[in-house]
Amino acid sequence: MTPYTLKQAAELLQSKKISAVELATEYLNAIDVRNPAINGYITLDKELTLAEAQAADERIAQGNASALTGVPIAYKDIFCQQNWRSACSSKMLDNFVSPYTATVVQNLLNEGMVTLGRTNMDEFAMGSTNETSFYGATKNPWNLDNVPGGSSGGSAAVVAARLAPAALGSDTGGSIRQPASHCGITGIKPTYGTVSRFGMVAYASSFDQAGPMAQTAEDCALLLNAMASFDPKDSTSLEREQEDYTRDLNRPLTGLKIGLPKEYFGSGNSADVQTALQNTINLLKAQGAELVDVSLPQTELSIPAYYVLASAEASTNLSRYDGVRYGHRAAQFGDLEEMYSNTRAEGFGSEVKRRIMIGTYVLSHGYYDAYYLKAQKLRRMVANDFQTAFAQCDLILAPTAPTAAPKLGELNNDPVQAYLSDIYTIAVNLAGLPALTLPAGFSAEKMPIGVQLIGNYFSEAKILGAAHQIQQHSDWHTHAPE
Ligand code: GLN
Repeated sequence: MTPYTLKQAAELLQSKKISAVELATEYLNAIDVRNPAINGYITLDKELTLAEAQAADERIAQGNASALTGVPIAYKDIFCQQNWRSACSSKMLDNFVSPYTATVVQNLLNEGMVTLGRTNMDEFAMGSTNETSFYGATKNPWNLDNVPGGSSGGSAAVVAARLAPAALGSDTGGSIRQPASHCGITGIKPTYGTVSRFGMVAYASSFDQAGPMAQTAEDCALLLNAMASFDPKDSTSLEREQEDYTRDLNRPLTGLKIGLPKEYFGSGNSADVQTALQNTINLLKAQGAELVDVSLPQTELSIPAYYVLASAEASTNLSRYDGVRYGHRAAQFGDLEEMYSNTRAEGFGSEVKRRIMIGTYVLSHGYYDAYYLKAQKLRRMVANDFQTAFAQCDLILAPTAPTAAPKLGELNNDPVQAYLSDIYTIAVNLAGLPALTLPAGFSAEKMPIGVQLIGNYFSEAKILGAAHQIQQHSDWHTHAPE
């Protein structure tokens, strides 16, 4: 068992109680034993990992280490990383070893963090269960019959199973927060534009943001400090002064106004989720926070708006996979047209094809106004709802998902039901807001349940501070699967 939080791992390295090579080896050994059942990691390369660890040890010996030097981390397969297969869990990119590295990964490599491996995900980040991966489903370490959530299910599973102190995920419609909830860990999606999208395989570019996943909010803050940077290579990267996301960790909850949106506390939630929310409300009250009722009236419209817009963006983003430049190319074809169509028919799985077809349809002449433009207007209305709510509160407390993790196969053949389960995460991405999931209880079947804290633009430090305070007064985040 390698139970370290990121902070503990960093302290062990700094006090020289363990070397980076020893620590990486400890994790690699645990991965050998436990990963085959979970399928959280899909690419491992011990030589590369140990070479990075060796370099970290040299840096520590020379006295120019940073706080994170030598700390191991796992990367979702969506991040391009030089010398590593970067497949986005798709057959289309199964043969793609990236010639360059995503900015967020490079920022962590610059700190001296050590890559443990690449984690499983839904193909091209489209899904909520991790079952659309070309490399097979990831299993939830709390119960191997359950899904870990998605699309960053592999990252959530390896952190929950203590096979990495932390991992990176990406969140287009909830893919950091929902798997964090289903696996009992903490994860944050930052304000759109805070972290660079350069080198992160594009799904829906106006939504996609990377973020940290770890056991604690404190660890997420430490990682976000290292990840966030202005990046001229990403046209939507925001040029802002570097923030210290740990700055509010010790700020008490007294006086903090927490909004409870009435649309999020309805009968659609399982009893276990209601209990987890109530646990959190009780704790917040006991710590002196003030609870206020707010309303997000367009909540239901966020699902159709998201699935129109995300599919539209996906259909254009994925047009680049044509068998010409990189990735899969069909072996059999007559002419060029057939090369394209055979390549795409073979390379993409059915969920990806479904999105491309929906996206192409809503962007086509005659339907553009009815669907795409309408959805853009709804997007604005959803964003406006949040501004009205934030006039009355500092942060919003919400469920992350209506239920605990479903069983494998339960949602896989019912795409509409799967889309509906994203109800509580998607509005945040439509608005571009930051939000965090933290563990808040367990279901009757002993599956973890998380809740969300949503903040206004650039309130990551406030969110992380409130989450850290909750974790100082509770122990849900300390539980690990057997
Ligand atoms: N479940 C959502 C989807 O399939 C969200 C995915 C994500 O955030 N990458 O689009």
